[in-house]
Amino acid sequence: QAAPALRIAGAEDVEEWWPRLSAGSEKYNRGVVGIATGSHTYPGAAVLSTAGALAGPTGMVRYAGTARAEVVRAHPSVVGSDSVAGAGRVQAWLCGSGIGTDADARTALHDVLATDLPVVLDADALTMLVDGSAADRLRDRDAPLVITPHDREFARLGGEPGRDRAAAARGLAARMNAVVLLKGDRTIVAAPDGTAWVNPTGTPELATGGTGDVLAGLLASLLAAGLPATRAAVTAAYLHGLAGRIAAERGPVTAPDVATALRDAVATIIQ
Ligand code: AMP
Ligand code: MG
Repeated sequence: QAAPALRIAGAEDVEEWWPRLSAGSEKYNRGVVGIATGSHTYPGAAVLSTAGALAGPTGMVRYAGTARAEVVRAHPSVVGSDSVAGAGRVQAWLCGSGIGTDADARTALHDVLATDLPVVLDADALTMLVDGSAADRLRDRDAPLVITPHDREFARLGGEPGRDRAAAARGLAARMNAVVLLKGDRTIVAAPDGTAWVNPTGTPELATGGTGDVLAGLLASLLAAGLPATRAAVTAAYLHGLAGRIAAERGPVTAPDVATALRDAVATIIQ
């Protein structure tokens, strides 16, 4: 039996799917995104994932966690709180990037998964999934879940991706009932139903610390704005790769450069 088609994401897809403003837009009905990332050890991950979310279509970003002071200093429009439980209403959560695996991180992951909201899990949240009881809680959830592993994170969850990365991503998506965004050169997005996309944008310049945190924040913003999980993941990967290329034209790339270029990438697609 032939493998299902691997679709190539295009600018026209992103243009069609990106949530548009209208005269009736206000900050709450554009969606509110919750960011539970970073730690005392990695405050930068919190700042970068928040920057990714701020480039997205939501009207408000709430940050919950121990890097609150750093995040609000870097991004004054963000509403900060100390915990997920105390954050107030959001329409989707990102948990992971640089959050660590200590008791506070476990509480944040538990509280995010206890909601009936769409969730993105990245980095340390994936580590906690592997060695904690959180994996059981996933089976009780109905709301969309997107995981964003790089190869090593993927290997811990579902074995080495191997040569057929699309097949590997499809397999893990079906097993976890989650949309899998497998990062790397030609990022793959795979859904539990076998639908899979390959991302044509990107550059090896993205292979630098913190760029994945920016991607995760943008993705969570798209979910909070109401995009279905697969479309949100494809859109985030496409625009993040485009941002990497734009940043690379300007010079050597760091993660903050990608966050800045993300605004230009969005502007090339969305008029
Ligand atoms: P992370 O490993 O979480 O920091 O994420 C790294 C980001 O950079 C992901 O979006 C990857 O898709 C991207 N990336 C890493 N290496 C490459 C590469 N060689 N070519 C293109 N994109 C890459
Ligand atoms: Mg990462």
